[in-house]
Amino acid sequence: MSLHYLKPEQVLEFQNKLLNFFEKNKRSLPWRENHDPYRVWVSEVMLQQTQVIKVLEYYDKFLIKFPDIFHLANADLQAVLKSWEKMGYYARARNLHQAAQKVVQELNGLIPDRYDDFRKLPGVGDYIAAAVMSIAFNQPYPVVDGNVKRVLARLFLIEEPVNLPASKKIFQETAEALMNHQQPGDYNQAMMELGATICKPQHPKCHECPVSEFCRALESGQQTEFPVTLQTAPIPEYHLVVGIVQHEERLLLTRRPLDGLLGGMWEFPDGEIESGEALKFACECMIKEKTNLEVRVETPLTRVRHAYTHFKIVMEVFICQYISGTVKLNGPIDYRWLLPEELAQYPLTGANHKFLHLIKKEALI
Ligand code: SF4
Repeated sequence: MSLHYLKPEQVLEFQNKLLNFFEKNKRSLPWRENHDPYRVWVSEVMLQQTQVIKVLEYYDKFLIKFPDIFHLANADLQAVLKSWEKMGYYARARNLHQAAQKVVQELNGLIPDRYDDFRKLPGVGDYIAAAVMSIAFNQPYPVVDGNVKRVLARLFLIEEPVNLPASKKIFQETAEALMNHQQPGDYNQAMMELGATICKPQHPKCHECPVSEFCRALESGQQTEFPVTLQTAPIPEYHLVVGIVQHEERLLLTRRPLDGLLGGMWEFPDGEIESGEALKFACECMIKEKTNLEVRVETPLTRVRHAYTHFKIVMEVFICQYISGTVKLNGPIDYRWLLPEELAQYPLTGANHKFLHLIKKEALI
């Protein structure tokens, strides 16, 4: 597949139709108010793995708290994670914070306007770099996200699976061949907007599509057969116990290591159940192993399911009573004994948020 059947004047026409569509239909979004690189960067980091509707709940509040790169660089990581709480993919927040510190300490606070320099910052991949370079600095780097790949696959009947790393090249080259060099920021946003609002995964609105005349999937009635996706292995499910340890009027909260999944977030101690292990026993052993405390499981609180990108968990949550010992951590990097009303000050994992209301409701202590 290639663009060989589109002549240069048709590429121009394609771009004009798309830009025209964007001009008339673009959603009014706070990050489109101006092209300040910091604001664009924050928005693209949030948008990379979160839907617009959810990002709208966070974006303005984040910028009020961290209005520029200096405020973000000087902030405590925990405050940044708290502002990101329940949006998921917390590595994004940690990387953005680290990148801000690098920009302030090594580049006098100036966000690089060269693709290669910007791309070297923590958390900046091809997508973020292309988005920021094009929108904030007017440079013709095409963004190639899931929405754009879907549009390209349908327009040109690209048969390479979208979720196969080896397909990256064909999508990148196709996107580059279509790229508009005069208004790269608007063009990229128009492509993403087309994918998000018209060329949707299940029911593309081809009758409203500004570039339908160029679409080979529409021409051949194959819209729902593209993009091609490679079958992936079923998502594994893990079974965990979670212990809410009470001691006098306080509850034990632990902090996850800074690297890895949910890095730096706080949670009630948890651990995977060994096959065939009794749940209460597993919970008491897990607390002992992770915190060195002897506890007694008092009562089950709830069972909670939670899904991450590559796996799912089922959590058996227990109320535990402290018996003896002093905390020595094995795994977590920090801990607090907190009153229930103090829990809200800490960035908690999304899975823990699912049963937090029960702790308050039960008035455990
Ligand atoms: S015509 Fe339909 S399938 Fe083709 S790009 Fe437009 S919305 Fe997508």
